[in-house]
Amino acid sequence: MIYLDHLASTPLDPQVLEAMLPWMRPDAAGNPHAAHPAGWRAADAIEQARGEVAALAGAQPGEVVFTSGATEANALALLGGVPAGGGCVVSAVEHASILGCLPELRQRGHPVAVLPVDGTGRVDPAALDSALAGLPKPSLVSVMAANNEVGTVQPLAELAAVAARHGATMHSDAVQALSTRTLYMAALGLHGLSLSGHKLYGPMGIGALVVRPPFRPVPASAGGGQQRGLRAGTLPTPLCVGLGVACKLARERREEDGRRIGAMRDRLWQRLRDRLPGIRRNGAEDGLAGCLNVTIPGIDAADLLLDLPELAVATGSACHSGAGEPSHVLLALGLSAADAHASLRFGLGRGTSAAEVDEAADRLVAVLDSAKPRE
Ligand code: PLP
Repeated sequence: MIYLDHLASTPLDPQVLEAMLPWMRPDAAGNPHAAHPAGWRAADAIEQARGEVAALAGAQPGEVVFTSGATEANALALLGGVPAGGGCVVSAVEHASILGCLPELRQRGHPVAVLPVDGTGRVDPAALDSALAGLPKPSLVSVMAANNEVGTVQPLAELAAVAARHGATMHSDAVQALSTRTLYMAALGLHGLSLSGHKLYGPMGIGALVVRPPFRPVPASAGGGQQRGLRAGTLPTPLCVGLGVACKLARERREEDGRRIGAMRDRLWQRLRDRLPGIRRNGAEDGLAGCLNVTIPGIDAADLLLDLPELAVATGSACHSGAGEPSHVLLALGLSAADAHASLRFGLGRGTSAAEVDEAADRLVAVLDSAKPRE
């Protein structure tokens, strides 16, 4: 199997697994919120992990709220973070976990604006300026750091500066960006940031919302008051520890990973472009290192992948594949529904080798060649 779907989920790093295993054994029993030595040991491990999550995002440990993943983190930020009487602005290319909150916000009476993007998927800060001018204060702005389908990176610092001029709170879904790019909340002017373990070579089932004052979303769940009342529930020690190690490794490796994976992505693009006339690349060229989204006009990407079972690649958004709907991101970039269905997303990662890239390109080209009508 050639795994080129790292944007859907990254494999667990062996160091993360090693760090988690002791906390899954029977002798590690202990509720981290309990007042006895077993509980204190677990609590200490979790606090260390919280520090690593904070360090990756350029925040303070006390600003990290562990969640079950980025979907929950985004919901907490949006459904809990729009103040009474305030509005909300998001981009048209946000992940479904952001866009899915909008009907509820509208139902609660909050005005909502969805910003268009240009042909590469980028939000124009001037468009945010006009949208905020038309909304009541205070408002929440949420724009992702990098897109999960086409890899386009947003001008977050500029967008946050516009939000600040309007007195709005700035949140970003940074799920895809953190493994290969440096993102520090204070430097960018972010008040909220969502991340996910399984996009960072960490475990599935854990993520975090990082909240910097004065942002304090209203919690969605009632319960034992854990995590300063922001997210009730017993913390899962092995998952928190795993996320902490994954964040530490990401901080140490993101620059080198970004360079190496970007070179692999360029190699893959070159091999496809040289052999498939008519192929087009979607998204900005200076986007996420691990993302290559292409349209091969005339193909049905879902059918093509049936002939390539040894290749793990996505059609449109992995979270949507199987739904049969053209990707909302590709449509927002201006692609037709037919071209969206003719698009493939390659997600390269830390373990992707040049040999894998070459073989993936060879196999794809071979299947397309064999499907051509004989002369
Ligand atoms: N945000 C983005 C940009 C994503 O790519 C994903 C997952 O695909 C999510 C949020 C949801 O993350 P999780 O699987 O942790 O809920």
